[in-house]
Amino acid sequence: MTTQPTINAEHAEHAEFCFSKKISVCFASSALIVVTAFSLSLSAQQPTIEAIPVRGHIFLIGGAGSNITVSAGPDGVFLVDSGTAANADKVIAAIKTLQSRLQMAAPAAPRSGAETTVATNLEPFYRTLTPPKPIRYIANTSALPDHAGGNEKIALAGKTFTGGNVTGEIGGEGEKAAILSHENVLARLGDAKMPAAGLPTDTYFGKTLKLAYFFNGEGVELLSMPAAITDGDSIVHFRGSDIIATGEIFDFTRYPMIDLAKGGSIQGLLAALNRLVEIAVPEFRSEGGTFFIPAHGRVGDIADMTYYRDMTTIIRDRIQDLMKKGRTLEQIKSARPTEDWDGRLGQDKSWTPDMFVEAIYKGLSKKQ
Ligand SMILES: [Zn+2]
Repeated sequence: MTTQPTINAEHAEHAEFCFSKKISVCFASSALIVVTAFSLSLSAQQPTIEAIPVRGHIFLIGGAGSNITVSAGPDGVFLVDSGTAANADKVIAAIKTLQSRLQMAAPAAPRSGAETTVATNLEPFYRTLTPPKPIRYIANTSALPDHAGGNEKIALAGKTFTGGNVTGEIGGEGEKAAILSHENVLARLGDAKMPAAGLPTDTYFGKTLKLAYFFNGEGVELLSMPAAITDGDSIVHFRGSDIIATGEIFDFTRYPMIDLAKGGSIQGLLAALNRLVEIAVPEFRSEGGTFFIPAHGRVGDIADMTYYRDMTTIIRDRIQDLMKKGRTLEQIKSARPTEDWDGRLGQDKSWTPDMFVEAIYKGLSKKQ
């Protein structure tokens, strides 16, 4: 807002200036100001897509749809979710920038040869001669378009491990990054006509999918959260970093978006939130420790997760109570069971408190 008056003032000043000058000069510099103002407002609207550090080698890319969790290190890159299709190129660019930053920050390789004794000045340039390892994996927490939309482009920009199990022909399709998800995500992305290169290559249907080896120095595990937001939700646990990418189960910008049509349910959601609280370990007095990277918004800890779980439980209880008293859905909505949290979480026009209440109500009616 503060730039607005400045631009206006410049304009006014410029208008006076114009009167005393030739029209052609005036026109050209006027256009320049308009262009500058336009690009200013453009850059204000479009968030920068870049990787910000979370802990150790785990980073977060925001603004590309859903949050994208990034593990970047000597084994390459592991992503949780891929953002929207429209932002895929920007995500790939952000990963490249991150990788070169990490490479420059890495300690220099020991050099002892005659040719390298004078390398002090040139050393950073030598270092970039070794290209960083590619994007190896994308894990999808669900099939929602802001989480899996970038799959195709980003997978094609990467390369799977070929040291062990090779999926497909070397030099063929199998060379792209592997995509991990619950098997229901594969079915839903297939229904949504996701191009083949963006479909999950490794799916699971039990409780977990574990990488068969450490990646960037730690175990990585997908855990199924059945019938929570959809019927294919996974959380991804970076076991060494103690960071969990939660997908839509935890979203600090709004109420959980239970998608009944896609197999979500309040019962499954609460089971998932309870599980997350259970897994988390605080560092000191219920703060710090395990970090949760949510679908959208800022990173949370066990205190945040407990708050979110408690809120969902209380709203569920209130609705259940009113249902037992024989209230209709409309009556329950006007009783505003979410009132206490609407200021913080009820401002999203695409997922209003009423929509959340209705999803819980319908879920509870189904069970009875
Ligand atoms: Zn989302």
